[in-house]
Amino acid sequence: MDTIILLGAPGAGKGTLAEGVRAATDFIHVSTGDMLRAAIKAGTSTGLEAKAFMEKGELVPDEVILRIVRERLAQGKATDRYMFDGFPRTLEQARGLDETLAELNGRVNQVFLLEVPTPVIVSRLSGRRICKSCGAVYHVTNIPSKVEGVCDQCGGPLYQRPDDSEETVLNRLEVYQRQTASLIDFYETKGVLVRINAGTTPRDATAELLSKLA
Ligand code: AMP
Repeated sequence: MDTIILLGAPGAGKGTLAEGVRAATDFIHVSTGDMLRAAIKAGTSTGLEAKAFMEKGELVPDEVILRIVRERLAQGKATDRYMFDGFPRTLEQARGLDETLAELNGRVNQVFLLEVPTPVIVSRLSGRRICKSCGAVYHVTNIPSKVEGVCDQCGGPLYQRPDDSEETVLNRLEVYQRQTASLIDFYETKGVLVRINAGTTPRDATAELLSKLA
């Protein structure tokens, strides 16, 4: 079971790049953020557990995250190739992933670190808008929809994720520095870290990532 990881601050473009890689390869995209939002929408016990943490921009406890990832991988086949976006976010999660993959004869092949200057991140997140119906992602100035507030693809209403408000964005960046940035050293020491300049356009960043995919 081959896996790659997209690592980077909130707003670095993990979801957008994941979409580009998914379209060009056979990697299965696994976003723990999307899984948690779906759990909240469905009103499951995992959703109830996660909601308060997500609203504040705090990390959901490691055991919850490792449980949903293990459940997801258990549904797959040995030949599946996974691309994680937004996971792991702590050393505990990274070690838990290594253990789970060892049981499945898998490993972390490459970790792509998406590097973006902080002011660009804040602007990207606070301007991000998402279609309530199909999940398409827009930005008020960088990727505007043709009609304000309406999705070009399905006509659904666009909304701002509650955790994209300016105050929560600053907390999420602080949480990233405090809890997730240490993963850079963890994966660099293992020799699997690959740096990507993600402060450019989604197209250029995706092309750089695909060219560095082993
Ligand atoms: P994302 O969509 O990846 O930006 O995640 C949105 C929110 O979901 C985060 O701010 C966390 O509250 C929660 N979350 C997503 N993935 C994880 C994870 N791997 N560990 C802990 N919390 C997570």
